Amino acid sequence: AQNWHEITLTAERVEALRKRADQHKYDHGHAVVLSGGAGRTGAARLAGRAALRIGTGLVTLGVPGSAQMEVACQETAIMLRRVDDPLALESLLADDRLNAFCIGPGFGVGERCRACVALICGANRSVVLDADVLTSFSDDPEALFALVWNRPVVMTPHKGEFRRLFPDLAGADPRVACRKAAMRAGCTILLKGSETSVADADGGLGVHNPDGKRAAPYLATAGSGDVLAGMICGLLARGFVPVAAAETAAWLHAEAGRRIGAGLIAEDLPEALPAIFAEIG
Ligand code: AMP
Ligand code: MG
Repeated sequence: AQNWHEITLTAERVEALRKRADQHKYDHGHAVVLSGGAGRTGAARLAGRAALRIGTGLVTLGVPGSAQMEVACQETAIMLRRVDDPLALESLLADDRLNAFCIGPGFGVGERCRACVALICGANRSVVLDADVLTSFSDDPEALFALVWNRPVVMTPHKGEFRRLFPDLAGADPRVACRKAAMRAGCTILLKGSETSVADADGGLGVHNPDGKRAAPYLATAGSGDVLAGMICGLLARGFVPVAAAETAAWLHAEAGRRIGAGLIAEDLPEALPAIFAEIG
């Protein structure tokens, strides 16, 4: 028997994406995207916009002082908090209304990055770990697995990031590799590609575009993955469990990519969501 399922937008998930008349913004979560420093804030801003468009009630960018102006000049609906060091992050984590985090896109590789991941996971906060986070732990993947084990975490590696964390799985079939990796790390893993796999720690496996009929090749462009990370973070903030957030975002991200087609740039992806929502009801 087939031991995986195709990722689709189920009726239950369509319902969970809706907002009801009796709800206000505080019912739709508060996502925090941690940004890199001056000149490297674009990735986090893309993720923040994606989180807003997917329906998160409030979105805050955590920004080093050096980059505050740069972000303030660009963003309007997105709020700003100064986060220079892990200590400042701790004060954000003390506010449990800030219920989902995204760290990695443009963040910068190194010790500061690893320390922030440790704080977020230690606070048991829902979080998307992408890009520079995955690279920061490539010398010591076990240290990352110890932090994420049994936590509400989605890791979103592309092939290269995956290979650095799971070198022994790099040659395997991506679906098998993704499942083994999620069971080893103890969290949800979304392995990106023209076919995207989403596996959870219990061995569940969803595959997006398994037969090539939902191809979205114009997603192969700068910033596309940052938007996906923001979409997942937004859904976590809205209360989706990690595997549902990852699968739903993968579907919507690819659908946006298919609709836009040639000429797509990452900025277009969040903006394509309202039309998709209008059609799925
Ligand atoms: P990143 O490499 O982090 O920028 O992420 C790239 C995003 O684009 C991921 O969501 C991939 O699944 C998607 N992507 C990249 N190349 C393709 C492709 N050829 N077909 C479909 N999706 C793709
Ligand atoms: Mg990326």
